[in-house]
Amino acid sequence: MDISYIINELGEERELYMNSVAPPIFQTSMTCFPTVDAMRASLFKESETPFYTRGNNPTTDILRKKLAALEESEDCLVFGSGSAAVAAAVLSCIGSGDHIICVQKPYSWTNKLLNIWLKRFDISVTMVDGTDASNFEKAIQSNTKVLFLESPNSFTFEIQDIEVIAQIAKKHNLTSIIDNSYATPLNQKPITMGIDMAVHSGTKYLGGHSDSVAGVLCGSKAHLKKIFEGEFMTLGGILSPFNAWLLLRGLRTLPIRMERVAQTTPKIIDFLANHSKVKKIYYPFHTSHPQYELAKRQMKSPTGQFSIEIDAKDIEEVELFCNSLKRFLMAASWGSYESLIFPACTLYGSENYSSAPFHWSLIRFYIGLEEADVLIEDLQQAFEKISS
Ligand SMILES: *Cc1c(COP(=O)(O)O)cnc(C)c1O
Repeated sequence: MDISYIINELGEERELYMNSVAPPIFQTSMTCFPTVDAMRASLFKESETPFYTRGNNPTTDILRKKLAALEESEDCLVFGSGSAAVAAAVLSCIGSGDHIICVQKPYSWTNKLLNIWLKRFDISVTMVDGTDASNFEKAIQSNTKVLFLESPNSFTFEIQDIEVIAQIAKKHNLTSIIDNSYATPLNQKPITMGIDMAVHSGTKYLGGHSDSVAGVLCGSKAHLKKIFEGEFMTLGGILSPFNAWLLLRGLRTLPIRMERVAQTTPKIIDFLANHSKVKKIYYPFHTSHPQYELAKRQMKSPTGQFSIEIDAKDIEEVELFCNSLKRFLMAASWGSYESLIFPACTLYGSENYSSAPFHWSLIRFYIGLEEADVLIEDLQQAFEKISS
């Protein structure tokens, strides 16, 4: 299936909705039936058909079909947030007393789920340096159930060798899960590399317009049926039909948005790499990244997220640099049309993030859809403010 077909046609049944080009938002909480028999038939296959919107909804269903096809997985479930998708994926594989192995420095709420929340249920976790795949194997215990990857991971963008770790999981009969938000299904296809489940924050690239929070979970039909009947319906962290519709709209332009950042981001990286105030760049597609070769092998093209450490005297100077940027918004998310920064020093002093593993001079950047020159000019003037 080609990408254009998936994005423009797959799952769309226009003749059912008066040939409207854009699908309707089925803003309904349930479906009705003409007879008891029809209602019973639908109830008995609730995981496959619209019955009640906590389960299925026709608008949401179109989105699920497209995302499964993009990820090359058998099925997909969508959630009210990426964190809900991560939690459902992990919870579906474990019981009290089990053990999880997770890559170091994952997304902060994934970290909290594993290291704080699950502790209440006697679940133990080992965090490993994922740059060496054998660390996953070495950490396996008799009660290990899950290998959790995030490649590249948040803020510092270290990479895990997905194929090798998927093999380790298979060999030891464990479930492998990856957070694939950074690369998107267009640039990295973990399911085809042997990973069992891929999760996404749909809030980021998939939505792409900073207007909805969403989560995605892709995997086999059998496993997702189990999740549907378990974590999905029970915890009920679903995506609303309207937000599903917004994600569908976002997907229409995903390929061209990804092409755009693949062109502009390397230009900005080049500028930064040659600037005397930049001490270090964390970007999988820069030659200074220790896993540059693996990045090129595993991911199809560069994307728009990276971090830098700047040469500043103190936090105040980092703040001056950040406050001087005019074309980058200061905000938490990434993956949309607008460029953003998230300075690590924001975390300093916050109780919720007391163990921030990042240097205070680290700034996470996200490159949106602006012209590279405009952003470079802005960076240039902000660096001048701290160059005196
Ligand atoms: C944002 C993010 C999440 C969480 O997604 P939400 O939609 O905010 O719940 C998970 N993983 C990564 C890598 C993220 O960037």
